Order: sequence, then structure tokens, then C-alpha cells
Amino acid sequence: MLEHERVAIALGERSALLVIVAVHSTVLGQAVGGCRLWRYRDWREALEDALRLSEAMTLKCALAGLPLGGGKSVIALAPDCELTAERRRAAMLDLGDAVDAFGGSYGVGEDVGTTAEDMLIARERTRYAYCLPESQGGAGEPSEPTAEGVRAAIGVTLEQVFGTAAVASRRITIIGLGQVGSRVARRLAADGAELLVADIDLSKRRLADELGATWIDPESALRAEVDLLVPAALGGVLTAASVATLRCAAIAGPANNQLADDRVADALHGRGILWAPDFVVNAGGVIYGSAMEFEGCSRADALARVGAIAGSLGAVFSAAQQHSTTPLAAARRVAGERLRAADRRRADAA
Ligand code: NAD
Repeated sequence: MLEHERVAIALGERSALLVIVAVHSTVLGQAVGGCRLWRYRDWREALEDALRLSEAMTLKCALAGLPLGGGKSVIALAPDCELTAERRRAAMLDLGDAVDAFGGSYGVGEDVGTTAEDMLIARERTRYAYCLPESQGGAGEPSEPTAEGVRAAIGVTLEQVFGTAAVASRRITIIGLGQVGSRVARRLAADGAELLVADIDLSKRRLADELGATWIDPESALRAEVDLLVPAALGGVLTAASVATLRCAAIAGPANNQLADDRVADALHGRGILWAPDFVVNAGGVIYGSAMEFEGCSRADALARVGAIAGSLGAVFSAAQQHSTTPLAAARRVAGERLRAADRRRADAA
């Protein structure tokens, strides 16, 4: 059954591209979540992505203690579609209209495939486009605060498994050296970790050399014997099959939707591998963005707030231990309690 409050799916008037807006929950406040511009086989696959990602945003905001709900939008490109600059601009104007039709119950930001400049175009059609460029007073590129949050989460995860948060001499694999993965790699290298890194983009090998990291192919990266695995590419990397071949003690990384499905959390638990839920680990961008754009915090204050991820993740691990469940089940439980409490407050106020 559909658990989402509202979903809109239509071809953009100007771009003729499929634009999907999915609002999962506004119980805690305005639903927020970025717009993913990506290639999909068909509309069902794009819709599925929007539904899953928007639910993850509800969990992310609830666990980060933000007064915000969960939503997501998707602009779907067919596998062979060529996106010219004019059509991209048209798509962002269409996105702005689709977001505006939600009347403020959903606010869009950037995500994989979109940029702060794209949000500036969407802003021409709606005031609910966020993450504008820094030059326009917006929060800008969120990878830096996201990486800061991932680094904090890695410390908590290592402490849970090894009794110490120190990364010096820990063997750590990072899969994906993009905006976030490269920043996490720099931090871990500076702190003395022994790094193995992988990316399908061979040009990323330069960074591996610069950091003194071992370059391996993505397939071997998943099976490397390490203390910690950091998934920092795209989602779905943890499947029943891949979990069976893992040789890591723990997993904590920014990639969204790492688990192919919820049963994978049980498989990880069964193998004694500690998984830090991605929607807790990668909340740095939304914590930072909401502090800056909704509360008017300075950049330094907004970045300092990202450190709260350590406490959120620690609470999830404690709840998992206390109730003998997986971190995924514990995180859903904590989020569920916050959502139910907010729902009761809303009902009382009505
Ligand atoms: P990015 O596109 O900058 O980087 C992704 C990197 O992964 C690229 O270098 C790409 O070549 C590589 N890659 C793709 N497929 C791969 C594969 N199969 N094997 C190895 N490498 C592969 O993206 P990003 O902004 O760094 O985000 C990384 C992940 O973190 C995404 O899942 C994103 O949704 C999530 N995330 C990002 C942010 C953020 O602030 N950017 C916030 C929350 C979550």
C-alpha cells in the first residue's frame, strides 16, 4: 500500500521530460529532499526511486531531530535522451512548477545530477527551491557538511566495534571518490587510515595516488578484508549475494539506499557486520542546509550542528543493542516514535 501523502507524476510542459514529486510525510514539518536527474529504463523505475528516496528523507529528518518531513523529486531521462542546455533549463522550470503546485508542503534542493545553479532556475517558478548558490546567500554545495557528518559517523561506528574511535592504522575501503567520497578520503588519510579506494571513473586514481591509497577495482573493493567499508557511490550495493562475500567488520558511508531491501539488514546482522544506517550517516547536508536557509545560522554554526550525527547514530546503536534488533529496525523505531509524538501534538492542537 502507498504510504506517501501525495505523489505527482507528469510530463513537463516545456521539457517533455517526466517530472515526479513524492511527498512521503509532512508530520514533522515541510517535506524536503533533493531533485535527482538521472537515466531510468522506464517511468516505473523512476517512480520507485522517488518513493524510496522520499521515505528515506522522512527517516533522515526524524532521526536528525529536524522539524522537517520527507520528500524527493526525480526528473527522468530515457537511456538515449540527450540533455541540451535549453532542455535542462526547461526541465528546471517544469520542476519549479511541479514543486509550487504542492503549495509549500514540499521544498526541493539539489541531489545527484542537479546543482545549486539548477535550483536557481527552479526558483524562477517557486519560492520553495532551496540550496541556492552561496553567491545568492544559499547553503550551496552540501558535500562538505555531508562528508563532515560521515567522518563523525565513522568514529562512532569504529568505537562500537573496536572500542575506540581512532582511525589511525585501520584498513578502510571507500567505494566512490565523488563529491563526498573524495572529501571523506582526504579526512581519513589525514587521520592515518590505511585506505583502499575504488571508482569506475579511472581519473579518480590521481587522488588515490596523492593520498597514498591503494587503488582497486569496485568488485574487489566490496570483498576486501578491512575494518570498515564506506559505500560512497550509488545505492543498492548491499544485496543478499554481495553481503555473503563481504569481509569487513562494519559499514558506514554516505551512499543513499545502500540496502537492496530491508532483509539485507538481517543478513548483515547475521554475519556480525555492523551497518550504520545510511539515512543517519548522510544527514549532514540537510542539517547544514536547514540551519542556514531556515534558521539563518552562520556557515560555521551550521557546520557545527552536523556533529549531532554522532549522538543520533550512537542512540541508534544503543537502541539496537537494547532491543536485540538490527540498526535498521532500531532507527525505524526511533523515527517512528518521533513521528507518532508529532502526530499526537498535531491532533491535540487541531
Ligand atoms: P558523485 O556523483 O559526486 O560521486 C559518486 C562517485 O561514485 C563518482 O565518482 C562515480 O564515478 C562513482 N561511481 C558510480 N558508480 C560506481 C560504482 N559502481 N563503483 C564505484 N564507483 C562508482 O556523488 P556524491 O555527491 O559524492 O554522492 C555519493 C552518494 O552519497 C550518493 O549515493 C548520494 O545520493 C549520497 N549522498 C550525497 C550527499 C551530498 O551531499 N552530495 C548527501 C547525502 C547523500
